[in-house]
Amino acid sequence: MEYDKNNIFARILRKEIPANVVYEDDYALAFHDVNPKAPIHILVIPKGEFISFYDFMETASPGLVVGFSKAIHHVLHAFDLQEMGFRLLSNYGVHGGQEVPHYHVHIFGGRLLGRMLPEG
Ligand code: AMP
Repeated sequence: MEYDKNNIFARILRKEIPANVVYEDDYALAFHDVNPKAPIHILVIPKGEFISFYDFMETASPGLVVGFSKAIHHVLHAFDLQEMGFRLLSNYGVHGGQEVPHYHVHIFGGRLLGRMLPEG
């Protein structure tokens, strides 16, 4: 599958459309999800053209993989999520139900998050 350069997160990265940004560095951008499912619901996206975790691991430089992971850690720290806990999630493909085709990690926190997955 080819990367869609006009997906909404690519446009946010290019600053063509606004986002409620909470953190940015050379590797990643983090912003509030527009439709939050928890009191804290932040998306972290890598800088570059990556569709999914799978794609990211196959093509991103080791430096970017580390930098992106550390950006997630930075946001967890900034929102003080270590003590009460959090959930990281990344959707992909038909079974995962990914909507936006730019790799992103959801950070959820701020309440009891319940069962890992809804009943199928
Ligand atoms: P996924 O199903 O993992 O692809 O999730 C995509 C997420 O992106 C959803 O939680 C949406 O609410 C969120 N989203 C879509 N458009 C925007 C936007 N412009 N700004 C912030 N979050 C967005």
